[in-house]
Amino acid sequence: MIPLSLAEVAAAVNGQLVAADPSVAVTGSVEFDSRKVGPGGLFVAFPGERVDGHDYAEGAIRAGAVAVLGTRVVAGVPMVLVDDAQVALGRLARAVVDRLPDLTVVGLTGSSGKTSTKDVIAALTARLGPTVAPPGSFNNELGHPYTALQADPETRYLVLEKGARGVGHVSYLCEVVPPQISVVLNVGVAHIGEFGSRETIALAKGELVAALPAEGLAVLNADDDLVAAMATRTRARVVRYGEAAEADVRAVDVVLDERGRPSFTLVTPEGRAPVRLGLTGRHQVSNSLAAAAVARELGMPVTELATALGELGLVSSRRMDVFERVDGVTVIDDSYNANPASMAAALRALAGFRRRRTIAVLGYMAELGPYEQDGHVEVGRLAAELGVDRLLVVGEAAAPIHEGATSVRDWEGESVQLTDQAGAVEVLRGDLRPGDVVLVKGSRYRTWEVADALRADAV
Ligand code: ATP
Ligand code: MG
Repeated sequence: MIPLSLAEVAAAVNGQLVAADPSVAVTGSVEFDSRKVGPGGLFVAFPGERVDGHDYAEGAIRAGAVAVLGTRVVAGVPMVLVDDAQVALGRLARAVVDRLPDLTVVGLTGSSGKTSTKDVIAALTARLGPTVAPPGSFNNELGHPYTALQADPETRYLVLEKGARGVGHVSYLCEVVPPQISVVLNVGVAHIGEFGSRETIALAKGELVAALPAEGLAVLNADDDLVAAMATRTRARVVRYGEAAEADVRAVDVVLDERGRPSFTLVTPEGRAPVRLGLTGRHQVSNSLAAAAVARELGMPVTELATALGELGLVSSRRMDVFERVDGVTVIDDSYNANPASMAAALRALAGFRRRRTIAVLGYMAELGPYEQDGHVEVGRLAAELGVDRLLVVGEAAAPIHEGATSVRDWEGESVQLTDQAGAVEVLRGDLRPGDVVLVKGSRYRTWEVADALRADAV
């Protein structure tokens, strides 16, 4: 964190100093895991359900923390006392970004692809100046301010994923760290169980552009009707990206190579350039266009955009992580999470491997609420329509995928319903042959054990 005296910290978080010297400065990092606290740091103690952070207050001081921010006094420990540690962490993050006038904050939200796109944006902005972006999906009330606190006077770009769990949530995150550039990717049915409808999801995600100042920039997906409609909810300038003709930053002539890597022509008002994307999957075209629209705004010329997009490597683990085994089997590990839109994207990437036998190992998609049955059925139908050769459906809860698949075509026994991951591993064992391409996807741990077995050559 930028150095702040305890008096400044207390003022920022509306807290009270107890047994603490107001002139002492916090020069180290702000941590809520006491094991990470170092000299000059500030430890934030949360009153957790099982473990109370305050129990670690003394240890944090021994590790070098100058004070503990918490909700109750711990005898003998210099404290910044507050009513709510989470709110205080947010306020502190706000105080820090407000002291960094050269910082541009890019916020992004969407149903699918936030983390993937965040990584592409950060890879592009890092070519323009020092960039801070969280590892993985740090997108909630804790991860968000925690990441913002890493910014210092050298930092030029702060890229933050904003997860929307309900109406008002993104607005709150925008109060903590106000964006100058807001990117909305798509409105799908992820988390529809909590929201009720796509329109309510749009309402919640639109808060990201509603929070922009007039001199800000809204980057909107022209290919998603509900996102495009968010143009009316912002005072800021709007830039549209996508494949639609009205997009300002467009991809035309998209083709996938035999490994599922897209090539396209990037078209901007300043010019066009050919791109061979360094990522796998059709959906990455959309994500890269969003990132290109941001980097273009920050001054990156179109030829450099094309080069940078070509140089992207694998972004985050278990997200379209394509690897080749020594036996000639290709594995697409996209097992981090799944919803109907991302399943469709991954299945299309799998089907893009032409002239190879394609095997999809698909698990349950969580958090679909009333859409659960239909969502799974649709995914099965798509697998059938795309001509996937073999389908292994993992777990009872995912059974409607198998039902959907077999309602479209006769699989001649190639669509199989299995009880668990071990069952899928068993079926794959002895069946895999050189040249096969295996996609593994589902909501988190339920299916990623299959990917791990494939990675460890245990299959
Ligand atoms: P979470 O809400 O879990 O943090 P996220 O929005 O950050 O998810 P990612 O982690 O980037 O999303 O990707 C999740 C899944 O969505 C991946 O499996 C990926 O294949 C798929 N995906 C990524 N981008 C898109 C897109 N633009 N459209 C549809 N699916 C996508
Ligand atoms: Mg994420």
